[in-house]
Order: sequence, then C-alpha cells, then structure tokens
Amino acid sequence: MIKKAPAFAALLLALALAAPGQQPQNPVDWSTKPLQSERTQTYDALHYLIKIWVDLDQKSFGGETTVTVASLREGLKTVVLDAEEFKVASVRNDYGEPLTFSQSETELTVNLPAPAKLGEHVTFTVAYAGRDPKIGLRFMDATPDNPKIVFSDSFPVNVHHWFPCYDYPNDKVTNELVVTVKSGNKVGANGRLVGVTEDRAGGTVTWHWSQDFPHSTYLIFFAAAPYVVVKDAFGTLPVNYWVYPQDEAKARPTYGKTPKMIAFFNKTYGYDYPWQKYDQISVPSGGGAESTSATAMTHRIMVGAADEADFPAIGIVSHELAHQWWGDLITLRSWAHTWLNESFGTYSDYLYHRYEMGEDEGALNLANKLAAYLREAKTRYIRPIVSDRYEKPGDMFDSHTYPKGARVIHMLRSILGDEAFFKTISAFLHRYAFQPAETSDFIRTVKDATGRNLDWFFDQWLFKPGHPVFDIGAQWLPARKAVQMTVAQAQDYARGVPVFRVPVAVKIVTAAGAVTTTIWLKEKRESFEFPAETKPLLVRFDEGNVLIKEVSFPRDLDELLYKLKSDDVLGRMDAAGELLKFKDDARVVPALAASVKGDPFWAVRKASLESLAKLAGAGAAPALTQACRDADTNVRTAAVLALGDLKDKGRIEFFKDLFKKDASLKVRTEAVCSLGKTGDASLVPFLKQAAEVPSRQNMIKRAAEAAVKQIEAK
Ligand SMILES: [Zn+2]
Repeated sequence: MIKKAPAFAALLLALALAAPGQQPQNPVDWSTKPLQSERTQTYDALHYLIKIWVDLDQKSFGGETTVTVASLREGLKTVVLDAEEFKVASVRNDYGEPLTFSQSETELTVNLPAPAKLGEHVTFTVAYAGRDPKIGLRFMDATPDNPKIVFSDSFPVNVHHWFPCYDYPNDKVTNELVVTVKSGNKVGANGRLVGVTEDRAGGTVTWHWSQDFPHSTYLIFFAAAPYVVVKDAFGTLPVNYWVYPQDEAKARPTYGKTPKMIAFFNKTYGYDYPWQKYDQISVPSGGGAESTSATAMTHRIMVGAADEADFPAIGIVSHELAHQWWGDLITLRSWAHTWLNESFGTYSDYLYHRYEMGEDEGALNLANKLAAYLREAKTRYIRPIVSDRYEKPGDMFDSHTYPKGARVIHMLRSILGDEAFFKTISAFLHRYAFQPAETSDFIRTVKDATGRNLDWFFDQWLFKPGHPVFDIGAQWLPARKAVQMTVAQAQDYARGVPVFRVPVAVKIVTAAGAVTTTIWLKEKRESFEFPAETKPLLVRFDEGNVLIKEVSFPRDLDELLYKLKSDDVLGRMDAAGELLKFKDDARVVPALAASVKGDPFWAVRKASLESLAKLAGAGAAPALTQACRDADTNVRTAAVLALGDLKDKGRIEFFKDLFKKDASLKVRTEAVCSLGKTGDASLVPFLKQAAEVPSRQNMIKRAAEAAVKQIEAK
C-alpha cells in the first residue's frame, strides 16, 4: 500500500535546495539551430541504370546514368537532378536524341522535349566524367593497411557526387550498377550479381549488380579492390566477407557470427532479412555504413582468432546488420527522424549482446549507453531526439540519437511488455517495408498494434529534451513499520525540460524477503511509503535499471556493504564506487578485496579493484597481484595498470613475465606500460626488443615506444 506522506515536506525542500549542483552545463542551445523541412518532390525517381568506369591509377571516373522518373506535376517541364563534382557531356532521350540541359555547381537541369503529364514516366541518359571528388567517391592509394581502392561514401547526401540523381532519402528507387575496373579487382555492391565479364584485351573487368528492391539513394554503394571473398551462408542466403588479401584469416573471427545474428534478428523483428544476400566489405574508413545488402565496414575491426576475445566485432557487426531492417528496409524520411535508423540500430546491438552474452553483459551494455548519453547531455547540449532543427544531417548522429534513443526504446519495451513491444516493431516493419517513414508513423503503429495511446511517453522522451535528475531519500520508520521515500525531480527545467511522468519499480529487501512495487512519478516532489517490518537491507529505486536518469541516493555503510555483495550487477558496481566515501571504516577494504576475488561478474571485480587501489595504495598489492591471474582479461588489464601505478621496481620481473606469457594482447600491452612507469633505465633494451613484436594495430610497439620515452624523460 502506498500513501502520500505530506509530513516530509521539509525534507523535500532541503533536497530541492541541494539540487542545483547536479544541473548540466550545456554550452550549445539547440533551439537556435536552423529549422529544416523535408524536401519537396516534383517527380518520383523510379530507377537508375548506372554504368560507370573507374580508374584507380588516375583517380578518375565517368559513364552514363539512365534516369527514369514519374512526374508528380501536370506539365512538368524540367527534371532537376543533384549533380556535383563531375561534368555532364550530354543528355539523350530514349531514342538517342539530345536534350538540352544546364549544369550549375550542384544541379543538373534537364529540359524535357514536351511537358510531362502527372504520372507520366520520363527516361533519359546522362553522360558525364569526373576526377577524384572531394566527397562521395573515395580513391585511396595502397598503404600497409589497405590495397589501392575506390569506394563510394554516399552517406548522407553525397551519392550525387558520382552519378546524377535525386539525392534525398524520402524517395526510394531500384538501380543497376555496372562498374568497369582494371582486371584483378573485384567490385562489391548492392543487390544481386547479374554477371561478371572480363575484357582481356582491354585489361578490364565489368561487374553488373542489380538492386531489385526499392531503397534510398544514400544506400547505393560499390567498392572496388583486389578483394578476397570468404563465403558463408545463412540457409540459402549468401553471406560473404569481402576482405583485403592480408586479412583473409581474420574474416571468420571477425564476421563469423553474422549468420547467427541474422537468425536472431529474423526472429526478434518478426520480419525475415529482406535483401538478396548480405556482404560485409572492408573499406579504409572510420566506421560502418549500412548500404542495402552490402555494408561498408572499416578494416580496423578485422581481428585474428587469438585477439577476438579482447576485441570482439559483434557490436559494430550487429549494429550494421540491424540497419538492413532499420534504415534500409524502412528509412528515415528526413533527418529529423534519424532515431528510426540509429536508435533501433543501437538498441539492436544491445539485443544481440544480451542474447549472445547473457543478462549481466546486457545490463552493462545498456549502462554504457546511458553513460554515453549523459556525457553529451552534461558537457555539450540537450535536445529533443526528434528535432527538425539542425545545420546539417550529421548533427543528428550524436549520443542523443544513438544511446539515448536506444534507451528510450528500452523504456517503451518495459512499458508495453515484451509481447506487445515485439509485435509492434514487427507491425511497423511490415507496414512501412521499402518505404520512407517518420516518427508519427511509428507512434500510430504503436496505437494500432497495442491499442495504447502513449503520446505522453513519446512527447517527453522524443519531442522534449533532457532527463530526470532524481534526488532520493529513504528512511525506515520503526513506529510505522514502513520505508518513507522522497523523490524530487531536480533537473534544470530551462529549455523545455519537463517534469517526467514515469513508472518506477521500487524494491524493498528485508531479512524476510524482497517486495517490488511500481509507483508513478509525475510531480517535482513526491513522497511514498512502503511497508517493511524490519529495517531494509537494501532499497532499490528503478529495479531493472529501466529509466534514463541521474540519481543521487545516499546510503549508509551497512546498506552499501550489502549492496556490494547482493545487488544486481550495476548496483554492485555502484556500491564499489560509493564505498570510497567510507574510506576510514575498517570494513571497507576487506569487503572490496572479497569482491575483487569472488564477484561472479568481471565488471564488478574490476570496479572493486579500482576502488581498492585508490583506497589501499601499496596495501592493495596482494589483491592486485592475485587479480593479474583473473579469468577475465579486462580485470587482468586493470590489475596490471593499478600495480604499475605503484612504480615499484621490485615488480619488473613480474611485468616482464606477464608480457611474455599472458594470452591477452591487452594485458601484455599494459604490462609494457607498467614497465615504463618504473622508470628503470636498464629496461630500455628489453622494451626496444618488445617494440619489434608484431601485434594488432601495433599496440605493443606503440606502448613500448611510449615506455622508452617515459624512461628517457626521467
Ligand atoms: Zn548506425
């Protein structure tokens, strides 16, 4: 039974006065960004037949694109296409007759021979050529990391730098891509492979691809390089890994879980993988780009079998794969709705982590997403996730769209329940398959699929900025045999931040057992009472860690010690940090040491280890030394780092031994760093030798060189 308890007004006021210290500093005022609107169309682009040659040596390209559009106007006289960084030589109609045209820096205007009627199809062919464009198509020389390569980098509106088109995501087209390149190269692209033809005399090869399903132009992609194609499959669906020749052995350690992921997402989304095949294609860029059926993937994720445990690729591989549904099957109509692509992509990588690695890893994954959002909110800006204010589309690809949006989806799931939630997202995919979509489409689908009006939820989490900052106090009242809890929403209400209306599960743990109660928060200050026969061992606010929030909830030492042993993973990690506040109590160091040694989850052992190192200094050495043998490489790495900070020359042989024998590259690298911290000049020859040891991305070499510098600087 929960009752309001007005007697606690004084305490609430005190909490409210303490709140301003938590207010975020936001140097950017998002509301001053320019207002954008979705692009208006005069025609519906239907199909592009793109025949293009690329010369990797000259970094030049050219060809012909045949454009088919349907007029959306009665009497359409011109077709204006986006076209930049190449020169158009001619435009001809179906019969090969020249059409007049004009070209500006950014557009090609084609004059139709006669005005087109509403709905009439118009086809013409544009011949053009260009050289090494600044964006959209990237020619790169060979380096130790990559062969000579050309690849398109069309996202978000750069595809018109290599062929003329309507370059905005609110229109979907089919396309064929016929690419001619020097023999010895392979060309990967969207859709189904129609054929490969060699011109032996000319020394070229032509790859013909066809994307038969509609997609937005920024998803049109190709890459040409001397790829090795490692074949895999999910049932009859081809799944291929296009890697550089030197990375062939890394293809399966990096990508091998892809078929399992496709199976998982098929089931999770209730919509089978929608494209003809799935290729992941190495390119020398910074991240992944989810072209339909052909994801361009940074070569930096490539990992050999020995290092796979330390540097798993499943985060980016699952995120990009999820885009084949979220972004590619359904696509943002304008960048105001970027969350439909990226929040779902980001939530999907959580879903896969949870499935593959279990509940604790899933909880940690979500906690890291929340932390990433809070960093941005506290140091840069807050904004509504759905916003038509931005200077350029790239503005929307931030920690609001990715992690905050993913956490909003997680909250929605918590409110709807799993069955209704997954039914809704499946319904959404089916309803808007192969179409652009916007946020209102999703909200309507929630109503249709579940009968529930959640406008209040979307209003505060998608259309308003910020998050609740809770100041919580709880005390047990022996006379009432109850826990009195006060909750203040202490966020800064400037810039449109609302008082949040949210359900929260509160768990009271006593010696007699645990009781969880859901309360609804909807005011700036509220108070609740929960029955408890005895003083609780633990009071948990937001059981399940569902909410996007900051919390200040002071606990006494007894409760923190209990939390460290018995709370969920995030609670135990939190306790490990909070115990630093009780550093003078004799019970703290042994409790942390016990957690380092015995907690079942690595991230808790690591958090306890870090607190222990801070508290006990050299006194922590025995526990840290033991943790250097922990089963988890993250714990071992943290232990070596903390031991290294002690700068004890007596441990030189110990670190050398770890460097030689530990199976983990992270641990070995950290051991080298720890040797540098000792400042012992006699180590220089050893470190110079270590610098010669080959390792992923030269991690050991870089650490050894830094260690030598550190020693020489002494
Ligand atoms: Zn993404």
